[in-house]
Amino acid sequence: MDIRSLFPLLSQTIDGKPLVYLDNAATSQKPQVVIDTVNELHTSLNGNIHRGVHRMAEQCTARYEAARESVRGYINAAKAHEVIFTAGTTAGVNLVAFAFGERYVKAGDEILVTEMEHHSNIVPWQLLCERKGAALKALPFADNGELRVDMLPSMISKKTKLLAVAQVSNVLGTINPVDEICRIAHALGVPVLVDGAQGVQHGPVDVQQMGCDFYAFSGHKIYGPTGIGALYAKEEYLNEMPPYQGGGDMIKAVTFAKATYADLPYKFEAGTANYIGAIGLGAAIEFSKSISPSAIRLHEEELLRCATERLQSIGGLTIYGNAPRKSGIVSFAFKNIHHLDIAQVLDKQGIAVRSGTLCAEPTMQRYGLTGMVRASFAYYNTLGEVHALAEGLEKAKSILS
Ligand code: PMP
Repeated sequence: MDIRSLFPLLSQTIDGKPLVYLDNAATSQKPQVVIDTVNELHTSLNGNIHRGVHRMAEQCTARYEAARESVRGYINAAKAHEVIFTAGTTAGVNLVAFAFGERYVKAGDEILVTEMEHHSNIVPWQLLCERKGAALKALPFADNGELRVDMLPSMISKKTKLLAVAQVSNVLGTINPVDEICRIAHALGVPVLVDGAQGVQHGPVDVQQMGCDFYAFSGHKIYGPTGIGALYAKEEYLNEMPPYQGGGDMIKAVTFAKATYADLPYKFEAGTANYIGAIGLGAAIEFSKSISPSAIRLHEEELLRCATERLQSIGGLTIYGNAPRKSGIVSFAFKNIHHLDIAQVLDKQGIAVRSGTLCAEPTMQRYGLTGMVRASFAYYNTLGEVHALAEGLEKAKSILS
């Protein structure tokens, strides 16, 4: 299968040069089947779910629930009602920070994150800590980008109410040993939220084997539409946690005196859901399932190996994140050239990368930097594109030095 031909956007040119899209950690491009699914719904099958009895409403409802089942299968959740549709990873983390926080966190408690988290897995916990008078702590990582899992037991105490950790760092590319982290935290009585934003697109996930209590991800990073994602949460927590938002569809009955809440998962899906997005996400997941996970892994490892080799040989360039288990992300900085300038010169050559703090200022601070450039790979990227990046960087360096 020619994977690139399934993604119409990839064949375009930028200023006459072929697009080299290496910003997949920010968002992935969409295969035709996802575009067609969303288009079909907007064109000929649109009815608000869980409400009407007309056939379009019923068909959309059925397809929305089928999409939930696709997500359930892809992450191997035990039950479909443990999958909540959200707007994305950020929304999922905020849901847990609010609802878990309301139920379980009080003044003097602690929430533990890691030093390599994305702002989406820091700030919601800070807001919770401010609300409750709790404290936020961060597990450090070593210079090579590996989490100091050895320090985890000493950072957990009776005050620790939850540990939140990225499956894969969006800056360093480190694949964190989340199974082991869950085991250690659970042995000390602490539940774990795994931020799967950079993990889920590299092959199926098994939340039961991982042992996490919460798992959040975004659809747009796994070939799906924007504005949709999912939160997996163990039923026992969902039953205990109060609703995050109130509105239509999340209630059983309402009087002015009191509202009673709908069964799971609807208790956590207030208002008109992004059902077209969710159905698009279902199509994206079915698409992902059609690619062999080992083929994805092997190809992305080859891209990473080649990129690391080529970039390491460019004078003045330092790669940040050299953990032994790494995903297809290479972040780097030049000694005397600003990251933004590099990204702009690459853009003129049709090469799309990310630059800046990468929504992870504490990670930048850890290395004493104000920003980095990041190239991130998907299954549809080619070795030719990695070479184009290396050549583009040499050119940028000669222009900007
Ligand atoms: N966590 C990580 C590790 C991420 O890379 C991202 C997206 N860059 C997010 C959370 C937030 O995802 P979203 O903006 O889709 O909610």
